[in-house]
Amino acid sequence: MDFDALVIGGGFAGLSCASALAEQGLRVAVAEKKPHLGGRAFSFRDPETGSIVDNGQHLFMGCYRQTRAFLRRIGTEGCLQLLPRIRVDYADAHGRRDVLRCPQALGSPLHLAAGVLGLRGLSLRDKAGLWRFDRAMRALDGGSLDAIDGLTVREWLTGLGQSPRVQERLFDPLALGILNERPELASATGLVQALREVFYRDVESTRLALSRVGLSDLYTDGSRRYIEARGGAVLLSRKVSALLEEDGGVAGACFEGGESLRAPVTVSTLPPWDLAKLPLPQPLLGSWRRLAAAPIVGVNLWLDRPVLDVPLVGLLGTETHWAFDKSKILGEAGGGQYLSLVVSGARKLLAWEPKALLELAKRDLARCLPAFQKATIQRWKVVKEPFATLSPVPGAEALRPRAASAGMKGFVWSGDWTRTGLPATIESAVVSGHAAAEAVRRLWRRGAADVEA
Ligand SMILES: Cc1cc2nc3c(=O)[nH]c(=O)nc-3n(C[C@H](O)[C@H](O)[C@H](O)COP(=O)(O)OP(=O)(O)OC[C@H]3O[C@@H](n4cnc5c(N)ncnc54)[C@H](O)[C@@H]3O)c2cc1C
Repeated sequence: MDFDALVIGGGFAGLSCASALAEQGLRVAVAEKKPHLGGRAFSFRDPETGSIVDNGQHLFMGCYRQTRAFLRRIGTEGCLQLLPRIRVDYADAHGRRDVLRCPQALGSPLHLAAGVLGLRGLSLRDKAGLWRFDRAMRALDGGSLDAIDGLTVREWLTGLGQSPRVQERLFDPLALGILNERPELASATGLVQALREVFYRDVESTRLALSRVGLSDLYTDGSRRYIEARGGAVLLSRKVSALLEEDGGVAGACFEGGESLRAPVTVSTLPPWDLAKLPLPQPLLGSWRRLAAAPIVGVNLWLDRPVLDVPLVGLLGTETHWAFDKSKILGEAGGGQYLSLVVSGARKLLAWEPKALLELAKRDLARCLPAFQKATIQRWKVVKEPFATLSPVPGAEALRPRAASAGMKGFVWSGDWTRTGLPATIESAVVSGHAAAEAVRRLWRRGAADVEA
């Protein structure tokens, strides 16, 4: 069968790209090495509890515009719930609660200012110092953004006179959640890119969003149906072993086992650590190979009673960073509570045994949520993702190839880690997928396998 394009990888980037191409009437093949779609954002059913478990809790935002457009295309946008109020709850290691409430009626970014003023854990002096942060945010343009890429989040915020308490209680949880790397390691660029999108556009952008269904149900089945209904094919358990080179360009891919698939244009959505394992043609080799991954560890707990009264809470001063009430999010009935805990940038925890991670989670929850002390754990499950996201250390931004650019004839770069102007998140993956689809469409209009570099 002939295809107009080959997309390698069946995650958010690959499926958003392939569905956008299918919408344009192109016949596209998606090749995925695993027996299921979803890449780094997928779900499975826990055999004991019957609960749907994500490979790690994912948080969406109102500013994920292209992600929402992708889900709209495949008919599942309704599975994403935008939380009605802009509110983030915190619990610290002494059991004290705080809340960032951003009144939507004030507009952006005044809603943030009002939210910060209401934080009980910050002094007036801490809050007053935030005007310097606001001034810096408004002054940053493309050039000055490049200039801060050499600074870590910690260095940048300290340079702006932000107190240790403001950093610990306000910025650190944001930086960890968005960048999946500790503020001492992450570059300031990604934080600025994200905060601009989230707080400095409009209030809709600041809203938190959660999937009411498992991640796989959110976008993989719908994408597959959409692509196949338009003459495309989704090929599972097809591991690309090399790109097919012809006349100085890429003409498709070879799979493990000897098969190959030819197509006028090939879009790679592989993360750099997978791409680097392939014997790539010389023009595609580059400094991107120095990019590395940052891990996430998740601990799932099924409790005999509810201990968390909000959909999500940021934990302060603990190894565990966030706790989500999955029972509420997934609409599961019953008297207990299913919690999903997240440890971002979890380098030192990767080597820990699951039982030790459980003990750590228990200790953190007992300190932050006093109600947990009376709860009984009925089941638990640890999920480690060593290659969760791109590690956005200083200098990494410059190594990301531009999304949808062509490394050589017939080849297009895509994936969350390509340069989209965003940190490597779901929205970055979809922005890159849609940009790659647009590049392929332009190529077809011109009738030449020569995408602009
Ligand atoms: C635990 C966890 C929590 C996260 N939390 C959030 C969050 O809260 N919010 C957020 O926005 N983002 C979050 N992320 C990041 C988000 O999941 C990623 O940005 C996104 O899924 C990346 O999509 P992608 O399509 O670019 O890459 P991938 O999902 O990695 O897709 C690439 C695909 O290529 C396939 N592949 C690899 N090699 C080959 C080969 N040789 N042949 C064929 N196929 C191959 C892979 O199997 C994979 O399916 C989180 C990630 C993890 C792991």
